[in-house]
Amino acid sequence: MKKISIIIPAYNEEESLPFLIERLNKLIDSLEDKYDFEILFVNDGSKDKTIELIKQYREKDKRICFVDFARNFGKELAMKAGIDYCTGDCAIFLDADLQDPPELIPELIKYWEEGYDDVYARRKSRKGETLMKKFTSKMYYRVLQALTPVEIQVDTGDFRLLDRRCINVLKSMKEVQRNSKSLFSWIGYKKKAVFYDRDPRIAGKTKWNYAKLFNLAIDGITSFTTSPLRISAYLSIPTFLMLIGYLIYVIVKCIRIQEAVQAYQAIILLVLFFSGVQILFFGIVGEYLGRIFNESKARPLYLVNEYNGEKETNEKLINS
Ligand code: UDP
Ligand code: MG
Repeated sequence: MKKISIIIPAYNEEESLPFLIERLNKLIDSLEDKYDFEILFVNDGSKDKTIELIKQYREKDKRICFVDFARNFGKELAMKAGIDYCTGDCAIFLDADLQDPPELIPELIKYWEEGYDDVYARRKSRKGETLMKKFTSKMYYRVLQALTPVEIQVDTGDFRLLDRRCINVLKSMKEVQRNSKSLFSWIGYKKKAVFYDRDPRIAGKTKWNYAKLFNLAIDGITSFTTSPLRISAYLSIPTFLMLIGYLIYVIVKCIRIQEAVQAYQAIILLVLFFSGVQILFFGIVGEYLGRIFNESKARPLYLVNEYNGEKETNEKLINS
């Protein structure tokens, strides 16, 4: 029987857990004769009774496993721990607060069985979230897509099913500042969207605020692309154009009225020249910085989908 891992990062989720376990159990019972299950909690340094609860659940049901972090490392790293510790033939990421309905899981599995490697849940609507959050999230996806050639899945969170070969690749990617969304997009493979309505949080409070979301957005952009580093190089162009324009103006004017260059004109020209040079050199430094940044991630250069008609596992790449 194939084994399915359900990875659940949890941070101060004692109020949501009973609901979550109840709904997961219902779901798993309905699929029990077809698949083995593993429910892998990653307790991200919760300060409430989350881990005690999880341990109690494990007493009763050995399918429930857990990784307990030494402190709060954030959801991204909790997800990485899930990737490292899960043992299934595929893994599903689920939020502990039931915003991702477990009832969608059979559909995810169905497409996985049809041969898709990354079945991701795409939000049709987001209940219980402010207009402002919806708008900023939408804009963010558009900006991100404009900045990178990698295809980005819009309106998609972390709720998705990944085949074992995706999991293995993600396991091998050891970059410290992780942005899972960008990694999921980067790996490619056969992707399939499943639409759903995102529910409001069942209990407890969101751990996000605008400051955190803003940081996440910057993380997303900087992990996808080094193009912000080019801003400087591009900015030098208008500066030099202004310099040339003003230089011509000054020369023509001086010849016309037969007068020497004025001090203020010389100062403006010098300021424009040296700003242009500085901005340009910032751009050049940025260009090399971007290269170092990309090399330091040490990602595999490419991932193979198929070799001679056989699904490629990329084991060789990962181990080399
Ligand atoms: N989470 C985590 N570590 C954190 C913050 C959140 O593991 O530092 C988990 C949290 O328990 C939940 C999921 O990540 O299962 C999503 O968090 P939340 O619901 O607060 O975010 P939102 O859904 O509002 O974006
Ligand atoms: Mg949530």
